[in-house]
Amino acid sequence: YAKKKQGSAIQIFNHALLNTFKEDALIERDLQAALKNREFELYYQPLKDLGRQAYIGAEALIRWHHPKKGVLYPGAFIDIAEQTGMIASIGEWVLEAACRQLNLWQHHNINISMHVNVSARQFFSTQLYDQVWQLVTRYRIRPNTLILEITETELMEDVVYATHLCKELAELGVGLAIDDFGTGYSSMRYLKQFPISKLKIDRSFISDLNVSRESREIVSAIIAMAKALNLSLTAEGVETAEQESFLSALSCHQAQGFLYSPALREAEFSQFLRANAETPLH
Ligand code: C2E
Ligand code: MG
Ligand code: MG
Ligand code: MG
Repeated sequence: YAKKKQGSAIQIFNHALLNTFKEDALIERDLQAALKNREFELYYQPLKDLGRQAYIGAEALIRWHHPKKGVLYPGAFIDIAEQTGMIASIGEWVLEAACRQLNLWQHHNINISMHVNVSARQFFSTQLYDQVWQLVTRYRIRPNTLILEITETELMEDVVYATHLCKELAELGVGLAIDDFGTGYSSMRYLKQFPISKLKIDRSFISDLNVSRESREIVSAIIAMAKALNLSLTAEGVETAEQESFLSALSCHQAQGFLYSPALREAEFSQFLRANAETPLH
C-alpha cells in the first residue's frame, strides 16, 4: 500500500512538474516574438514624498500584452527571461523605453525621477554601464533623475564587481536603489562599502505593521539606519492611511503603494500627476 501511495504521489508530482515545464516552454517560445511584436509596455507607479506630500518619482514596471493570455505581470515571465538569457534584450528595451519617457517628461517640465528595475544578469553584464551612459547622453537625461533598482540578494552575487559598477554609476550621477530591502542578506559592511543612494523597504514589513511589533521595530530601525547612512528611503507596498502615518511619524522619506495608485499606463500616470499636483500640506 505504501509503495502504491508513494507511486501515485510521484505521478502527481511529475504531472504538475510537467505542466510547469510545458507552460514555461510556451512562455519562452512566445517571449521570442514579444519584443519584435511590441507586446511589452512600461507602466508607472507613483512615488510620494511624505514630507512634501507630493509625487516626486515613478517606478517603471513591465507588462506584457500577450496575444492570447492578456496582460501578464513580470512574475509570469521575468524568471524565464533570466534563465534563457532573453532578459538582456528585454532589459535593454526597458531601459531605453524608460529613458525615452523620462526625456519626454523633462521636456514637459514634469520633474520626477524614474526608477528602473534591473535583474542580476543585466546588472552583471559588461554592457550595462555603456548602455546607461549612451541613454543618458542620447536622451539628455539629468543623471540623478535616473535610479536603477536591484534586489539585495542579486546585488550580493558578486560583491567585488558590484562595488566597481556602483562606483562607476555614482560617478556618472545615476542613482542605485536596493530593492526589497530586508529580505536578503546584506551586511552593514556592504551598505557602507557600496556607494548606493537609496533603500526600498520590502512590502512584507509594511503589510503587517499594524499586527506585528517586530515589523514595526524593524521598519523603524531601517529608517534610523538610512538616516544615519544618509540614504534616501522608500517604503514599498503602502496600502493604508495607518501605514502612511506610522512611516510619516518616523520621517520615512517616500512611500509607494496601492494607497496612492497601482502602476498606470503613461497617459493615466500623467493624468494622475496633474490631478495630484502640489497637494497642500495638512
Ligand atoms: P518590485 O520592483 O519590488 O516592484 C514592486 C511590485 O509591487 C510591483 O509588482 C507592484 O505592482 C507591486 N506593488 C506596488 N504597490 C503595492 C501594494 O500596495 N500592494 C501590493 N500587494 N503590491 C504592490 P509587479 O509590477 O508585478 O512587479 C514584480 C516584480 O517584477 C518587481 O518587484 C520587479 O522586481 C520585477 N520587475 C518589474 N518590472 C521589471 C523590469 O522592467 N525589469 C526587471 N528586470 N524586473 C522587473
Ligand atoms: Mg523595484
Ligand atoms: Mg520591491
Ligand atoms: Mg522586486
